[in-house]
Amino acid sequence: MASGSGDDLLVRLWGVRGSIPAPGARFEEFGGNTPCVEVRCGDRLVIIDAGTGLAALGASLDAASPAAIDIVLSHLHLDHVSGLPFFKPALMPDRVVRTYCGHLGGQSAAEGLGRLFSPPLFPVGLDVLPCTFEHRGFVAGEILRLPDGPDVRTSALNHPGGATGYRFDHRGRSACYVSDIEHTDAWPPPSLVEFVRGADLVIYDGMFSESEYVRCQGWGHSTWEKGVALCEAAAVGKLVVFHLHPQHDDAFMRDVEARLVARMPGAEIAREGRAFSFPPVA
Ligand SMILES: [Zn+2]
Ligand SMILES: [Zn+2]
Repeated sequence: MASGSGDDLLVRLWGVRGSIPAPGARFEEFGGNTPCVEVRCGDRLVIIDAGTGLAALGASLDAASPAAIDIVLSHLHLDHVSGLPFFKPALMPDRVVRTYCGHLGGQSAAEGLGRLFSPPLFPVGLDVLPCTFEHRGFVAGEILRLPDGPDVRTSALNHPGGATGYRFDHRGRSACYVSDIEHTDAWPPPSLVEFVRGADLVIYDGMFSESEYVRCQGWGHSTWEKGVALCEAAAVGKLVVFHLHPQHDDAFMRDVEARLVARMPGAEIAREGRAFSFPPVA
C-alpha cells in the first residue's frame, strides 16, 4: 500500500487530530492537523472534511487542482471546517469549490460557514475569496451523487448536532470515514455494520480508550476498542483509528497502537501523510 496509481482507490491522510491542532515535536510522528482526508477514485478527487490539514492538501495540488473540487463534510464543528479559507484552490478565480453537508436536514453549510467566516471572527466571508463556492445539502443516509461520480453512500452518525459518515466504492474496493461518532450501549448497531461491511479500510473515531471514555461520556466520540468491535463484526480489511486526542503525544499513541495491534493485527493509528492504495478487483 503506497502512493497509488492508475485506477486505484487511494486514501491519504492530511489531518488526523481531533478538536484542536497539536503542534510541536511531541506530535511529529502522528501529526497535529485536524481532520482532512484525500480520496481518489482513479483520477477523481474527493476531499473529506476541511480541518487544518486542508491547507497542506491545497498546497500540494497547486496549479494541478481540478476546475471543480468536491469537499464532503462530516459536520461543521470547527476542527472540520477551519482550513476552508486557507485552501489554495479557493484563492484561484477559475476554480469552483463545492461543499456537501448531510447533518442539517438537507440544509447546506452556507449559513453555518457564513456565521463562522465573517467579522469579527474572520476578516472576510468565503464569498469574497476568488473562487466560486457552492454549498449543497443532503440528508445523511441518502446516496450522495457527486457530479461526474462517484456515488457516495452516507450514514447519520451519533454526535452532538449530528454528523455524516461516508463510504466510497470504486472498482470493487471500498473505504469508509466514520468520524465524529459516539458509540451506543448496544454495539455495534446493525445499520452501521451494514454500512461498513466488507470495506477494505475504515477510518474510525477512536479518540479515547475504554478506560478514558468513562470520564468523557456524551462528548460525541468513541474508543479504539469500539472501532475493533465494529470492524470485526463487519469483516473490514483494515481499521485506522482517527480523530486523535490533542493531548495524546507520540509516545502515548505508540503505546495505544501496540495494544491495538495486539488486539487486531493489521490495524493502525492514523498518521498524517499516510496513504493507502487499493488496486481494482472489478
Ligand atoms: Zn471533530
Ligand atoms: Zn464534532
